[in-house]
Amino acid sequence: MISATGVSFSYGSGDVLDHVDLQVRHGEVLGLVGPNGSGKSTLLRVLYGSLAPHAGRVLVDHADLKDLNAREVAQAVSVVVQETPGDFPLLVSDMVLLGRTPHHSGLGRHNARDEQAAARALERVGMLGRADHGFDRLSGGERQRVLIARALAHEAPHMLLDEPTNHLDIRYQHQVLDLVRGLARTDRHAIAIVLHDLNLAATYCDRLLLLHQGRIVAYGSPSDVLTPENLEPVYQVQVRRLEVDDGVHLVFTPSFSPLPPLSA
Ligand code: ADP
Ligand code: MG
Repeated sequence: MISATGVSFSYGSGDVLDHVDLQVRHGEVLGLVGPNGSGKSTLLRVLYGSLAPHAGRVLVDHADLKDLNAREVAQAVSVVVQETPGDFPLLVSDMVLLGRTPHHSGLGRHNARDEQAAARALERVGMLGRADHGFDRLSGGERQRVLIARALAHEAPHMLLDEPTNHLDIRYQHQVLDLVRGLARTDRHAIAIVLHDLNLAATYCDRLLLLHQGRIVAYGSPSDVLTPENLEPVYQVQVRRLEVDDGVHLVFTPSFSPLPPLSA
């Protein structure tokens, strides 16, 4: 489990995170939602120790993150970040094998077990057939799936993902999120995922944390968090909520004045 208590952070002036408390539990997907600039990526960076909180603390399975070295953190937590490495002259298979690095004492000494883990990870994202392709030749969506495979190859019990469905078409958005949910359900991973699409978040996340200006506005089940009362002031749109099968579906109407009609 990853748990944050009273976490605050600032890049300079003003708190970007203000007393955030959360728990990412094994077997669940926690969705981090909120408008642009609300602090979601910063929160994720604090949760994997890339940024140190100015107040509060982060525990990973009862160990304080600040007491773990980079290798120990990498063995416990895998990440899929937004900044996609651009032109890496690497094969897809090599990119995924990089995810095995925390299991080694040195670089480039991977064994049959590593190759199996890498192949399994590529298969889970539907990219095994591209193992011998150049990573820099892939489309944005394919790169994203390879980066997820790299994180899967870590075989770490916690996973943090920052908008992993960007660049993906609808089918792969669902494939990736179904995979993520499967990791929580089947492998009992503890997963936190930043998502922009609130309807995808409602479908695939067990709990949601709604962030606004670095503060938690709501934290709980999707149906408790995704209410017009919570969302309208934060996103400045009108929200209509429909009850569907076993969840909720949101329809948005911008509340700023509409553009004038196009003249013929
Ligand atoms: P989100 O992921 O929700 O869009 P971020 O965590 O990226 O939000 O950003 C939160 C706030 O912190 C924003 O106001 C952003 O401008 C600021 N910020 C993010 N990264 C940096 C940085 N490296 N240096 C200074 N300010 C930053
Ligand atoms: Mg972000």
